[in-house]
Amino acid sequence: MSHDDCLFCKIIAGEIPCKKVYESNSVLAFEDISPQMPVHVLVIPKTHYDSLADSVPPAVLGDVFSAAAHVAEMKGLTKRGFRVIANTNDDAQQTVHHLHVHVLGGAPMNSGNP
Ligand code: C5P
Repeated sequence: MSHDDCLFCKIIAGEIPCKKVYESNSVLAFEDISPQMPVHVLVIPKTHYDSLADSVPPAVLGDVFSAAAHVAEMKGLTKRGFRVIANTNDDAQQTVHHLHVHVLGGAPMNSGNP
């Protein structure tokens, strides 16, 4: 279900442009508009869920994480490593309330935040 006021639903609908990295029937992956690492891609399900805390069906989570691993492979990150993050609600500073994971890599990361 699409939410009219959701930025990422608008991206899925093609109403807001994105730099697409990968797409399947169930997910879309695109370059983050404000990259925090040399590689910073967002993977989102095409069905709207507010966050990871929104009773997301396991199949959807599987599709999102499989796509995250695929994107990491596409970007050449698999051997050196990468990080997958799902900021969830206020304490984690989730700013877009459509479930998404950040795929981050391309340089060494420290063990602290993020
Ligand atoms: O996890 P969080 O909700 O903070 O992340 C949202 C992400 O969406 C940010 O990294 C932001 O740069 C990205 N974004 C984007 N394209 C937009 C708006 C936000 O890639 N049009």
